[in-house]
Amino acid sequence: MPIVVSFGPDAPAETAARVLELLDIPSPEDRRCRWHDSGLLVVRSDSGPLDRVRQVAGVARAVALPDKHPLVSAEERSGVVTLPNGARIGGGAPVVIAGPCSAESESQVCEIARIVKEAGAVALRGGAFKPRTSPYAFGGLGEKGLEFLARAREKTGLPVVTEALDTSHVDVVARYADMIQIGSRNMSNYPLLFKAGSHPSGKPILLKRGFAATIEELLMAAEYVLLGRMRAGIDEPRLILCERGIRTFDDSLRFTLDVGAFPVLKERTRLPVLADPSHAAGARRHVPPLAMAALAAGADGLLVEVHVDPDRAWSDAEQSLDPEGFRKMMEAVRGR
Ligand code: PEP
Ligand code: MN
Repeated sequence: MPIVVSFGPDAPAETAARVLELLDIPSPEDRRCRWHDSGLLVVRSDSGPLDRVRQVAGVARAVALPDKHPLVSAEERSGVVTLPNGARIGGGAPVVIAGPCSAESESQVCEIARIVKEAGAVALRGGAFKPRTSPYAFGGLGEKGLEFLARAREKTGLPVVTEALDTSHVDVVARYADMIQIGSRNMSNYPLLFKAGSHPSGKPILLKRGFAATIEELLMAAEYVLLGRMRAGIDEPRLILCERGIRTFDDSLRFTLDVGAFPVLKERTRLPVLADPSHAAGARRHVPPLAMAALAAGADGLLVEVHVDPDRAWSDAEQSLDPEGFRKMMEAVRGR
């Protein structure tokens, strides 16, 4: 049974030694110890005087966790995530987050933001740090792209969701964004998960399922984020999961949207679950039907790529909806 101990920011140097002594662990390098950073220790031990550990000066929290992914499944945690504009993700009506695959220019991002807001989106998506399969493909505008997204927020009031590709991006992304995306290719980047989860800003995280990851592995990845929350002293999970398609033997579409993931995830966790039909479909005509299927299966909302001139998008052109296509899809979503 893992015992998790988080240390406060002003913990004295001897805190860790005293905790380890109480838990009967001879050294901080013991194989039963897992240090996520200097302030969050997991000790695998069947028992321990937890109430005494809690009294050690510098200990912020000490808990014994029961099962395999205890934090994501904790009953008492409400998973609803509230955005700065008041939009609530999880539990209620489905929400839609939309925008371009990549932020390309201030005018492109602002124009798309205006269009998706008018059609009913609650937040703007857009990549500034792009994970690209090819090292020769456009990789995003970096901080400049974040500035464009922030400008679109200023103009429309839409909160911004954008990806941190690496631990070194978390600070700058948290400075500009309202929600930090961790992409499919990074679902198993454990230091990134912990770093984003423990960021002092407490910014919500959108965690996408790895395209070759099981649901169990997604839940374990979520657990890293929530351990990060514990490290930062944040009680709410502020974590949204996203099914974006997995790799199967069938290659008719870019990926296979795992519609079964929605009821399974809803059963195992209280975290909101979004669907990304764009990356699953890989072709714009298939995006609306996959979106509807995901909502029918229990998704709490959608993450969709939209572009003013989709055929000329700098990335993921084939799967980006045009404004009219997006409006039609939104009508269908509302008419369910
Ligand atoms: C994206 O949302 O732009 C993206 C790269 O998605 P994924 O990580 O699911 O491929
Ligand atoms: Mn994309």
